[in-house]
Amino acid sequence: MFKKILIANRGEIACRVIKTARRMGIATVAVYSDADRDALHVEMADEAVHIGAAPAVESYLVAVKIIAACKETGAEAVHPGYGFLSERASFCEALEKEGIIFIGPKPKAITAMGDKIESKKFASAAKVSTVPGYLGVIEDADHAEKIAGEIGYPVMIKASAGGGGKGMRIAWSEAEVRDGFDRARSEARSSFGDDRVFIEKYVVEPRHIEIQVLADAHGNAVYLCERECSIQRRNQKVAEEAPSPFLDEATRKAMGEQSVALAKAVDYQSAGTVEFIVDKDRNFYFLEMNTRLQVEHPVTELVTGIDLVEQMIRVAAGEKLPFSQKDIKLNGWAIESRLYAEDPYRNFLPSIGRLTRYRPPQEGKTDGRIIRNDTGVFEGAEISMYYDPMIAKLCTWAPTRIEAIDAMGEALDGFVVDGIEHNVPFLSALMKHPRWREGRLSTGFIAEEYPEGFAPMSPDGDEAAALAAIALSCSLVEGNRRERHADRLRPAAGPLRDDWVVKLGDEYLSLKLLDGLITIPFEMDMEIGGAVTSVVTDWRPGDAVWSGSVGGRKITAQIRPFLNGLRIDWQGLSVKARIFTPRQADLDRLMPVKLPPDTSKLLLCPMPGLVVSIAVAEGQEVKAGETLAVVEAMKMENVLRAERDLVVGKIQTKPGESLAVDAVIMEFA
Ligand code: ADP
Ligand code: ADP
Ligand code: MG
Repeated sequence: MFKKILIANRGEIACRVIKTARRMGIATVAVYSDADRDALHVEMADEAVHIGAAPAVESYLVAVKIIAACKETGAEAVHPGYGFLSERASFCEALEKEGIIFIGPKPKAITAMGDKIESKKFASAAKVSTVPGYLGVIEDADHAEKIAGEIGYPVMIKASAGGGGKGMRIAWSEAEVRDGFDRARSEARSSFGDDRVFIEKYVVEPRHIEIQVLADAHGNAVYLCERECSIQRRNQKVAEEAPSPFLDEATRKAMGEQSVALAKAVDYQSAGTVEFIVDKDRNFYFLEMNTRLQVEHPVTELVTGIDLVEQMIRVAAGEKLPFSQKDIKLNGWAIESRLYAEDPYRNFLPSIGRLTRYRPPQEGKTDGRIIRNDTGVFEGAEISMYYDPMIAKLCTWAPTRIEAIDAMGEALDGFVVDGIEHNVPFLSALMKHPRWREGRLSTGFIAEEYPEGFAPMSPDGDEAAALAAIALSCSLVEGNRRERHADRLRPAAGPLRDDWVVKLGDEYLSLKLLDGLITIPFEMDMEIGGAVTSVVTDWRPGDAVWSGSVGGRKITAQIRPFLNGLRIDWQGLSVKARIFTPRQADLDRLMPVKLPPDTSKLLLCPMPGLVVSIAVAEGQEVKAGETLAVVEAMKMENVLRAERDLVVGKIQTKPGESLAVDAVIMEFA
């Protein structure tokens, strides 16, 4: 076994690899860029080597620097994590030349599977069922139109070198093929330095189901069942689970066996993932093979009990797999939520900044449920523009799917993240979405369920009553604490009043205290809307998480004070609450409401980005849907279109300028 390994990655995956290495008694070396001097993976590793400036092309992607770091520290092997150099055959070859072991597959397998066109050819030769399409490079828009016509609409245009959901476009018509071809090609060139694109059939109502395989250097290969990753935005996964609620034993076995056949055909060793798209009749088609550890691998670990990183390390050290196919058993259900620094209310656009608060839920096993949080950040850390905006991967395990979902909902409700926009409200709302709970999924789930985008939800009657009760409990506990402060001049408070009004958003709810104690813990029977509800909590002033029960229902919610009130976040609901006496409430009703400024005559930049082009001129008449400007952010070209017919007024920016979020691009007349 190795004595020391280097992890050529950063963030949560570097931390995750370090944990297993440490458990196996292997020393670890981290590498870091300027932006990561104080990162968690540097802190956790036994040694750390600085490898350059913040942009990945000057640090994490520079193979010679990684190799130099291995030599400097005496690391015998390199774990590449995912992304960065994990799927570069040239990197493995360079390591091999230096006598350093790559913890992953051999270069031959990476080359065969790394390119989508080549891997599809390979898979069909290995009798794996592939998506119908054209197995070659498309030359130009005319060629694309011809091929698309032959395949039949809708089609998907994809970059052969693509990954991470980038460089792919759905086209429903000839016009969309022509437009999509040019965009896919330009995105492929700028993201992957390789503009080869191909076209395949777009599978309608698709589910993304993938098979985890594991193979050693002695010809043994097994499949560790599947993961379903159908909850996606921009063709990127957001929530995953294992097993899939859709597969039956026969389909699972067929997919597993084809995946193992493919792995054997490329002499695969280490962990790898064969991705399939599955249609509503359970026909499955090979999409691609990822020759690395997958982001969502923890759900497989939770249901199989196998540590994939440990197996990767053992296989790389030449050991045989300690189990065969018949030993692999599925136990229970696991869900993963990817917490991203992105704004769910603004089409999931990235957000960067400092984590002013970061308080994940407690990890471990309680009440027969497991919570696992893989993360690479800490309170006070910064989510920079240089790398993937993932904050953490929160996983839950329970005996059944619904229990695992409920455990996730609760864990998310208690996960406090401040300082940046993030998708926790979306994930929390997802956990209570009936269609998700039923397991009726497709990769179009988010687009179908939130056609207008994800919007803040408003509470129903019971939820409003619970939120009002929570708000009042906080206010009473806080008031009580103020009263008891020593050495303070205080107005005579008089007896505790029993009638209160909670303003939730724009609604006024009357609450009456019946009987109880305003202590810690707080226990009070209240009358809300004619019903008697008892509220119990051990919340203390300053706590970000409120946990307790309202009317017997267990609730975990988050409390954030703001001027004269508090904001409560719970299950994707976010409401502002103010506590009034009935008299104050009467007066509040008379207060004029301050309206937000009118931005309907402005085109604002929806995310921090670089202006690529301005498509219109001042004074030009534009129809709804026409392009106004293109802004590049996170390597994606975002086309900003007119939402209605309009006339362009003053243009306030020009191509090449970099803009902050909400910067004015142009005015409308
Ligand atoms: P998974 O299927 O494991 O979720 P993704 O395809 O979402 O993997 O990619 C995982 C990570 O690797 C992401 O951070 C993504 O940005 C990065 N990545 C994947 N493929 C590439 C590639 N070809 N070039 C650069 N980064 C990539
Ligand atoms: P990446 O390398 O970016 O992960 P994939 O080929 O794995 O690219 O596709 C990513 C996602 O795009 C899939 O999970 C699926 O949602 C969607 N997708 C890809 N190809 C098709 C297709 N032919 N039909 C329907 N959806 C597809
Ligand atoms: Mg993929």
